[in-house]
Amino acid sequence: MDGLLIGPATRRQALFASVCAFAILLTLALAAPRARDALPGIAPFMPMCALTVFTTSSIAAFLLGARFAATRVAMLAALGGAYAFTAITVALQLLMFPGVFARTGLLGALPHSAAWMWVFWHGGFPALVIVAELVRKRLPAPPFARERLDARGWLLIAAPAALAALLGVLVTHVDLASPFRDVANAAPAASPSAARASAIANNLAGLVICALNLIAIALVVLKGRLRLVLDLWIVVALLASLVDAALNTLSIERFTLGWYVARVFSMFAPGVLVCVLVWEVMALYRQLAEEHATLIRASARDALTRVYNRSYFDEQFRQAFERATRSGQPLSLVMLDVDHFKHYNDAFGHLHGDACLGAVAGALADTLANTLREPGGFVARYGGEEFALVLPDTGADDAAALAERARAAVEQLGIPSPAAGGLVTVSAGCATRDAIVASSPNALIEAADAALYAAKHAGRNRVSHAGASIA
Ligand code: GH3
Ligand code: MG
Ligand code: MG
Repeated sequence: MDGLLIGPATRRQALFASVCAFAILLTLALAAPRARDALPGIAPFMPMCALTVFTTSSIAAFLLGARFAATRVAMLAALGGAYAFTAITVALQLLMFPGVFARTGLLGALPHSAAWMWVFWHGGFPALVIVAELVRKRLPAPPFARERLDARGWLLIAAPAALAALLGVLVTHVDLASPFRDVANAAPAASPSAARASAIANNLAGLVICALNLIAIALVVLKGRLRLVLDLWIVVALLASLVDAALNTLSIERFTLGWYVARVFSMFAPGVLVCVLVWEVMALYRQLAEEHATLIRASARDALTRVYNRSYFDEQFRQAFERATRSGQPLSLVMLDVDHFKHYNDAFGHLHGDACLGAVAGALADTLANTLREPGGFVARYGGEEFALVLPDTGADDAAALAERARAAVEQLGIPSPAAGGLVTVSAGCATRDAIVASSPNALIEAADAALYAAKHAGRNRVSHAGASIA
């Protein structure tokens, strides 16, 4: 159950991720030429985005940490660290942002504190993905030794979170110069494209961030070759992060088209991972349910003959008896026993005996399946070379006729036997709930057993009903 996220990606997943990647790049291509177009200012948009990024990054960090705890794959812890770093830097940026909670920002924010937190947030994420890729190379393939990796793994999450907090302390205590060129007060450029070029050239922070994203994407692609589900979606997240940084580089002014689209992509980067992680939990849940159902089905079957086993018979026969008692419908039970099977084993050995039991069980199951009947009937191996047919809503005559067909079907298998008739045969005893005074499931079993004994006594290879014998 390690798989899925760190398992190989299917073609469909690769296609879906490619479509997402294409849509992201297409958005960049469409938005870039108009990045500096001014749009109506919606003041709550920035805090709303920051809060969304904080929430989704926290959830992504938590889910990746939980996946690390379950799988011991260090890279998951390192990626969890990248999202923990994002969550803390974006929260600090929001708190320090002038005019959101306080005019000059909270936490003793200096004039450029929030801008620097933005730079750390956007640069830290790809940088920590790069760390995750390096960790992937250095640490052995899973499963890791539990004790040894625990401390190192958790450090991969805790250290980036602590670093984010330390950077918060740094920017509120050291009066750093603005990481961005003052675009608003810059001399007007000759043309829009010249303005764009000068904005890019002067936005060193943006360029470094774009470069970090490109390096991270290259590392993921080169190291993982996009074989894992996780690789695909980390690349999509990094692309979103790259477009976010690129649009900010083109236009750092608030309420421009580039600024708005960049904000949407900053929400997309952690959001995509959360969606993939939640999807993975759902897929694991479905896989678990399917495996559980398979296990339940397998546990009801007899390993040798593949018909139902004794414990299934005990449970289902009791339930069928109770239903018949409630509904007043008849319930028939046919007990069958292979004739002179000890001789068969003695003559051919137990392995051939096993194969013979499988063939007999198959003939009984086919007879039941080929006979138009009420649902709920089944064949079970009662024990040794004895089988039981449970036939709900079946009267004595129908049960006897079906038992006779089953007997004939075994005979027609034509399995040679050292017994008198020269073929493997079965004897059958039928009992029906409404034909005999049967006050309990055990009484019905005893009645069918007694009928079987009578069939054996009467010469074997025949059917006997509780009371009367039908040769
Ligand atoms: P009868 O006609 O009276 O039923 O004679 P029988 O020889 O079939 O009855 P008996 O009870 O004397 O012997 C049953 C044999 O079935 C003995 C046992 O070794 C064999 N047997 C029971 N379970 C298995 C099994 O799983 N595989 C094989 N090969 N033999 C089995
Ligand atoms: Mg027996
Ligand atoms: Mg027998």
